[in-house]
This record gives sequence, structure tokens and C-alpha cells, in this order.
Amino acid sequence: MAAAEDDWRLEQLRSQKHLHRIRLERKPYRAYRPGWDHDHCVACTAQFAEQDLPNERVLKEGYATCDDYVHGAEYDWVCPECFLDLKDALGWQEATAST
Ligand SMILES: [Zn+2]
Repeated sequence: MAAAEDDWRLEQLRSQKHLHRIRLERKPYRAYRPGWDHDHCVACTAQFAEQDLPNERVLKEGYATCDDYVHGAEYDWVCPECFLDLKDALGWQEATAST
């Protein structure tokens, strides 16, 4: 189901224009650089990590920015649920490995 106009996640992203109309590729989560052990979904702040963390729910897979993104590939991550809910509202496109 598409997000409602007053979805809080949409509110949060509305002013972040660099996150609008971008390509996102589904892939296993990988830390952005060594020493960086987790990230958060840019919309709902769900946590991504390569390893399980004690007492925390972590996602191992999500949608990552591509190399045409202003901050580069795998810099920002979106969880699968938010991708589905918000892609129409924010103009997100699913990238395939070959594009
Ligand atoms: Zn999310």
C-alpha cells in the first residue's frame, strides 16, 4: 500500500530533496567503511547491521543508494518496507545489478 500523504516517514523525507527520485538497489547490508558497524533506514530509522547485535532488531538486507547518488553508493539505506510504501511518493526506482 502506498504511503498516505501524512505518513510520518514522508514528512521526514519531504525536505530532503537529495533523497527524492533516486535509484535504490536491493542488496545485503554492507558497512559503508571499516569501523562503521551499522546504518539506519533513512525513513523509519530501522537498524541495519552486518552482525546481529545483542537485544536489537537488525536488518541484514535493504535498498542502498547507487553510484549516481550525491553521496555515493551504499551511503544511504532504506528498509524493504519503506521502499515499498514510499517509492511512489518519492520517485524511487529499483535498480538492477546491471544498470
Ligand atoms: Zn524503513
